[in-house]
Amino acid sequence: MLKSKLSQIQKETINKFNKMVEKGDLSFREVDCLCGYSDFLKIAEQDRYGLSQRVVVCKKCGFDEQSSFDGRILPVFLFDRYVSHTL
Ligand SMILES: [Zn+2]
Repeated sequence: MLKSKLSQIQKETINKFNKMVEKGDLSFREVDCLCGYSDFLKIAEQDRYGLSQRVVVCKKCGFDEQSSFDGRILPVFLFDRYVSHTL
């Protein structure tokens, strides 16, 4: 995990993100692999930065990917964290 190399604001953002996932404020959606297959092997519950998101490997082609966020929710998180602090 690369968490020790992150800046303070990056760590704070990751903590806020993880709390939103924990509370259900950020939701995920299932998507098929680029090869069209939809059977995955879960290899981690967090990514290399400590973000709480499922990391999986496609059982057919071996392509690894992360869970996809519900596209309606993520912009709200990004606006709150980045844009609102620059206005
Ligand atoms: Zn695949």
